[in-house]
Amino acid sequence: MHQQLCRVSRGGLLYYTCTRLAGVRHAFTTKRGGVSTGDCESLNLGFNRGDKRENVIQNYHILADALGMPYGRLTMTNQVHRDEVSVVTEGCVGMGLHRPMAWESDAIITALPDVPLAGFYADCVVTLLYDPRSHTAGVCHAGWRGTVRNILGKTVDAMARELGANRDSLVAVIGPSIRQCCFETDADVPEAMEAAMGAAVRPFIEPHGEKYHIDLQGVNAQCLRGAGVRPENIIDSGLCTYCHSDEFWSHRVTNGRRGVQAAVICL
Ligand SMILES: [Zn+2]
Repeated sequence: MHQQLCRVSRGGLLYYTCTRLAGVRHAFTTKRGGVSTGDCESLNLGFNRGDKRENVIQNYHILADALGMPYGRLTMTNQVHRDEVSVVTEGCVGMGLHRPMAWESDAIITALPDVPLAGFYADCVVTLLYDPRSHTAGVCHAGWRGTVRNILGKTVDAMARELGANRDSLVAVIGPSIRQCCFETDADVPEAMEAAMGAAVRPFIEPHGEKYHIDLQGVNAQCLRGAGVRPENIIDSGLCTYCHSDEFWSHRVTNGRRGVQAAVICL
């Protein structure tokens, strides 16, 4: 785990924070602290996991209360493995939880206070972004498909272009996700990655016999540097959801019978 990450246990609730995001409410959740049962025990934050809707709602209340965020303004990404970024304005507040999802955006950004932004993971790479100078924030979901589309670099670009964020003060925290130790693929994934990103992606692909191990966090950190984020402002949590499946749902460990965690940030 990165030395600037903190493991916070409050009552039954367990989540991670980063000292570099001290100026803003935020968390990377784990499995623990909610009311769901079965495969979704206990802090499941997904409505499409076979869980009871009232349990998921209750889990959001627990999380929002613990973090001091307004439940009624929670706003969500729509994770379709593409590269669209949406700006959350007052008219979109609550999308995904309190009003129907009207965007197909794996990343959402805002300058509005008291709007918790949530992105979801159970192996995928979710990154929280915050620029203390412009006081703007974002959350970005990237599986390998979004990673090779440079959605994270495009999120930084959108924060700078649409919200006036400063690339040289922007902080990015790459959350718990499946890491190179455990993200094993066939040749199709590295071939698709190289087709999209060229030779720059090669240092992040390691052959293992017939298979390949991919460093998605490394590629995403490179995307951040490419977008002008300073290396010292890129914090990789270092937490592997597969290795730590005692605390996190890993899609691969559970074969998809699982709940889902969220990364949330609120100005
Ligand atoms: Zn691992």
